[in-house]
Amino acid sequence: MSRFYEDVVNEINSRLDIVDIVSETVHLTRKGNRYWGLCPFHQEKTPSFSVTPERNLFYCFGCQTGGDLVTYIMKREGLEFKEAVEYLANRAGVTVQKESPAARRKQDQMRGVLAANQAAAQFYHEVLLSSEGKKALQYLQQRHLTPEIIEKFCLGYAPDKWNVIENFLFKKAFSQEQVKSTGLIKRSDQQDRYYDLFRDRVIFPIHDLRGEVVGFGGRVLDDSLPKYLNTPETELFSKRRNLYGLYQARQAMRSLNQAIVVEGYMDCLRLHQAGIENTVASLGTALTQEQARILRRFVEEVILLFDGDEAGQRQALRAVEILHAEGLKVWVVSLPAEKDPDEYLDLHGKEEFLQYIQNSKVDHIEFKLNRYISNEPELHLDACIRIIKALHSDIASLESELEKDYYTRLLSRRLQVEENLIRRELNKLGGPSRSSSLNKNGIFRDNTRYGKTSLEERLLVSMLKNPEIFTEIQRSVGLNIFQQKEYRQLIKSFADLQPINQDTWEELGIIARQEGFTEAYARVMFLMEEEKGLNLVEVRGIIRRIQMRRRELRWQKFQERLNEMSETADFDQLLRFILDLDAFINPTHKGVKS
Ligand SMILES: [Zn+2]
Repeated sequence: MSRFYEDVVNEINSRLDIVDIVSETVHLTRKGNRYWGLCPFHQEKTPSFSVTPERNLFYCFGCQTGGDLVTYIMKREGLEFKEAVEYLANRAGVTVQKESPAARRKQDQMRGVLAANQAAAQFYHEVLLSSEGKKALQYLQQRHLTPEIIEKFCLGYAPDKWNVIENFLFKKAFSQEQVKSTGLIKRSDQQDRYYDLFRDRVIFPIHDLRGEVVGFGGRVLDDSLPKYLNTPETELFSKRRNLYGLYQARQAMRSLNQAIVVEGYMDCLRLHQAGIENTVASLGTALTQEQARILRRFVEEVILLFDGDEAGQRQALRAVEILHAEGLKVWVVSLPAEKDPDEYLDLHGKEEFLQYIQNSKVDHIEFKLNRYISNEPELHLDACIRIIKALHSDIASLESELEKDYYTRLLSRRLQVEENLIRRELNKLGGPSRSSSLNKNGIFRDNTRYGKTSLEERLLVSMLKNPEIFTEIQRSVGLNIFQQKEYRQLIKSFADLQPINQDTWEELGIIARQEGFTEAYARVMFLMEEEKGLNLVEVRGIIRRIQMRRRELRWQKFQERLNEMSETADFDQLLRFILDLDAFINPTHKGVKS
């Protein structure tokens, strides 16, 4: 691979997340640090296709296909290496020299708009911190936001004027088209001119997953309406496809495997400020399927933290359905009536807040049950039957009998109906309905049971994981012990990278790409997580076996030569043979040659 492509591929890898790319066509579900789905490259019913965002690799334990982002796109789209790189570069906004003028113009325009957004966010932020923004800053301070969080989320203030942002961006040499595309200015039909969308508002820049500012939210400082305003939907910005705080919450969500979804910007900021960084907010819309899918790339579990008021609860109910339909485990925490998370944190602090979440979260079925009960003025028989019917498919689709039993008893308790009757009613309604019971994730296989890892692979993994084992092997039998060529390449490259540090794996990946053993590299990286590896005693056993085998082979050769010589040898040949034999019998002197 040329230096040029190497750079492009590295840049692509730093910008794109393999989970995002794979998710476009494969339903991935998170399990620990990895994601699993049905393999797009072979037919299967239970997922053996795995993706690791940490290393941007994929591997299928079923058909043993694996590799990096580029390999994946080559296979998925049926492209050549260079075409796949161009495809991904386009996605990542990385320039590859060869591209059509139209595509380049379009890309330039997009980049221009992003740059204008970035400049505008910075501008609003500076205004907030200037004397002009005093009022807004005071407002944010009253809402208990610290300077750090204001900085981190780049909050700003749009002054109460008509053409501030337009003038600023023109002065920064952005074209009219670019400025229009930011959505920050609006056209006045009567006067045939443009004016600023945000005036006298606190500004919340909205970042996409890459950290680019794609849109803005603006909030008034008083009670005037509309309270919140967003930049309009543009090619870059779609409210349905973004979540506020996603960029900042990304890491925490992944590592906790859990997201907290709140309703408002302020709640989101306050939670982040309190160190609850796995928090995102929907953007003033009801939670959408697209947003649920974004969350699913990061977490398996979502906690909805919605206001206890009627509107909040109704929103929560919709969100529960959407998240659950996407295969996420959903919990709902309803705050005490008339309190939003922001206020609750003020009153009680972080620890008590987390405690409250822990104690009062209910899962999606119980939440729905509570909702249905509170919607019925009276729990007479008809109402009970209605509720049982409404919850039937949720309960029927549970896989565990224990869980089903748990909800049967819960219903019995809450509806004050005998357990047997509930059970009979549920049975009468039949098995799970197709739509809700379809387990999109399939049944997760037991990772340790899976895959036919060869002894060779287990040894390789042990060497990569354990420096002591690596050294012992290298010293006693050398690195040339692997049957498979790719594994020999891999371990030699690994040896060249000694001593290892945090960059070793990435460098190994780059070498793998250059030398064409990415697939083996991907497999081994996955096996490293999957396999416990051998212990030193087992390894020494293997070393002894390798040494023994080598002796046998050598001894065989000696015998063959002896047979030959018995017929033809002269004195010189015989002498050399005896010396060789001596070296073989006393390997400590000269080492055993393989
Ligand atoms: Zn496969």
